[in-house]
Amino acid sequence: MTPRQWAACTLGVLVVALVVYAAVVIPWHRPPAPRADQLDALGRLPADQVRRAKAFHADLRPGSYGALAVGLAAALLLGLTPLGARLVSFAGRPFGDHWIAQAVLGGLLVVLVVEVITLPFAAWRHVIVVRYGISTQGWGAWSADMAKSYAVGAVIGGLALLGFYTVTRLAPHWWWAFGAAGAAALVVLLSFVLPVVVEPIFNKFTPMAQGPLRTELMSLAARDNVPVRDVLVADASRRTKAVNAYVSGFGPTRRIVVYDTMLTEATPDEVVSVAAHELGHAKRGDVVIGTVIGALGAAAAVIVLYLLGSLGWLLRLAGTGSMGEPRTIALLLALVTVAGLIGGPIQALVSRRVEARADAHALDLTGDAATFEAMQRRLGTVNLSDPDPPTWEYLMYASHPSTVERVAAARAYARGER
Ligand SMILES: [Zn+2]
Repeated sequence: MTPRQWAACTLGVLVVALVVYAAVVIPWHRPPAPRADQLDALGRLPADQVRRAKAFHADLRPGSYGALAVGLAAALLLGLTPLGARLVSFAGRPFGDHWIAQAVLGGLLVVLVVEVITLPFAAWRHVIVVRYGISTQGWGAWSADMAKSYAVGAVIGGLALLGFYTVTRLAPHWWWAFGAAGAAALVVLLSFVLPVVVEPIFNKFTPMAQGPLRTELMSLAARDNVPVRDVLVADASRRTKAVNAYVSGFGPTRRIVVYDTMLTEATPDEVVSVAAHELGHAKRGDVVIGTVIGALGAAAAVIVLYLLGSLGWLLRLAGTGSMGEPRTIALLLALVTVAGLIGGPIQALVSRRVEARADAHALDLTGDAATFEAMQRRLGTVNLSDPDPPTWEYLMYASHPSTVERVAAARAYARGER
């Protein structure tokens, strides 16, 4: 068999593995609550709160879709014309056209161009988020966050590109195999490293003060048989008024993280309800599930890239000769952007099912549907989430069930139906 045939076979195996794994571990059998129950829940929410949340999201839309459209157009323009290849050559010129300079600096330059073009839309979104009182950041702090994000992306992306083009040079016919293994390994590594190394760049974490709430959260985890090392409070209020909580880390390093905003905005019972949801993720190994799916997906994506590399017309459009040379970075970015658009709704669907299972876990663990519902309403009021988003937006982007779905599910639980 030729390397191409091996690649096609491996891709087939990966796709089957991905589909089988997702079919087995994702709780597909948990459909959203009936629409009538959702509409009933919507009808009981304060009308002015619903109006305000809808207005907020309507005001955000031009900035969000503007960024999406312009970002896509820029990626396609750079990737499907020789413009991107020229940018990469330009970045490598001061270094004698060395491939390492092209791979790392060229990659950073291409991404920077797209970032700069979409920056006005991000600023527009920031204006709206400040106007509605969600963000507490001035322009200085906002810019610092943007710069930090770009720097983190630059380090991770730079290393990934360096690794990728090293492999394409060393193994011109078999790079897809090493690249696929490397991409999968990178996904696994990042899921360990991001919470410990990257999150502290953006937030400070301090152990929650000794007291009844901390004791309650630790005993909740113990009752759930989920070992938890600590309860940490993140200083989210420096950035936002929104409330949130999450569990990160594996096994003995696992910790519950609560936004400091949650401690001021929500009642202790509501914090317990959210923590119970997060313990649901830990108990079912949702971080591991996400990591495995991400790793299989990343490996498959590298092989797809390799196979696309035999399409002469695609490479000619991009003004390059092979997928394995750094001048194709912009083409990679264009393909990744398109793949993200196609894969987004699938990812969102998987995420919603997993989130609904964590909700059910919270209800089972606390047995307190009333507090769960109060917390969902609070999330809606404080975070201004759209309680019942438009269908297409929900299908494209919603990583969580909507507020009305979650409230309806809680009522069904209270009636003993779930
Ligand atoms: Zn969750």
